[in-house]
Amino acid sequence: NATTGKYGLVELKERYKEIQMPEILPVDIKELARKKRMNGQFSPLLLEYIREALEKKEQIILFQNRRGFAPMIECKVCGWVPKCKNCDVSLTYHKGINQLTCHYCGYTYQPPRSCPVCEGKELINRGFGTEKVEDDIKLIFPEASVARMDLDTTRTRTAYEKIIADFEQGRTDILIGTQMVSKGLDFDRVSIVGILNADTMLNYPDFRSYERAFQLMAQVAGRAGRKNKRGRVVLQTKSIDHSIINQVIANDYGQMVSGQLVERQMFHYPPYYRLVYVYLKNKHEALLDVMAKVVAEKLRATFGDRIFGPDAPPVARIQTLFIRKIVVKIEYNASMNRARELLLRIQREMLDDERFKSLIVYYDVDPM
Ligand SMILES: [Zn+2]
Ligand SMILES: [Zn+2]
Repeated sequence: NATTGKYGLVELKERYKEIQMPEILPVDIKELARKKRMNGQFSPLLLEYIREALEKKEQIILFQNRRGFAPMIECKVCGWVPKCKNCDVSLTYHKGINQLTCHYCGYTYQPPRSCPVCEGKELINRGFGTEKVEDDIKLIFPEASVARMDLDTTRTRTAYEKIIADFEQGRTDILIGTQMVSKGLDFDRVSIVGILNADTMLNYPDFRSYERAFQLMAQVAGRAGRKNKRGRVVLQTKSIDHSIINQVIANDYGQMVSGQLVERQMFHYPPYYRLVYVYLKNKHEALLDVMAKVVAEKLRATFGDRIFGPDAPPVARIQTLFIRKIVVKIEYNASMNRARELLLRIQREMLDDERFKSLIVYYDVDPM
């Protein structure tokens, strides 16, 4: 029919499980660091809540993103992270040769002597691991029983199971962990979850780091106050105004539901839709915007309201090529072959047009 386009198929209803999301308290650690009010990686608010929880014999999970280990440098004062001039990604720091490298284009840079934003002289090698968190928290709360769950401490199945059992049965007060703590674990007595540094998720040099950051933070947040009462999440970040941070704080269900990747992970339902990301690239941004608009129009004429975008992806330029992304959402029971034919037909139409010959198109089917 006319409103949904020629590609008519049954729309499946979207459902998601109701879970009570915790109260999320954002903490601007950039500001606190400036005022010298941070205790290591811990904000006063987080420490206060940990103390409170310990007194009530409730449990605490502290989440440190494993990706924080990706060596990068950042300005200690303002949080500036060096990025590639050709690509829209953060640079990786190689300590041995004292060089910054772009993982996308291979370009290397000398680390700057001072921060170009605030002229701060202290550029630190970022990436506090879980071990450091464990040491610090033991010093602050010597009476608490602390365990750490990461790749190092869970090399064997028994070790992993012991950490889980100890925490479940209340023998551990504070569990420090990476991604692992976000997956499929239900702990009833957790009242506080601390996300120590959300920025390590946002700045990781990866195409989908924003989507993943949202997903991960939402999952970790979901560990707090599962059954009995609403938990609290202290979300420490240097990017308090970042849209992803705001979505997490707002528990933006609408966003989550439309983001199929998130739903798939969060609610453990088989996917209702398959996603195809259509990436469009060109050296000239203005021309690319025109082309993206035309492609989106053509796609909408065929796929109707299954088309989202065009948008600039988080990494919107790679190797000097600008990128736009269009999302095609296809019902799971639909024919992917047919969808593919239609996509390629539109691509051919574009490239046959003299004005759009320089357009580069590629697809990511079932992106994860
Ligand atoms: Zn680059
Ligand atoms: Zn700075």
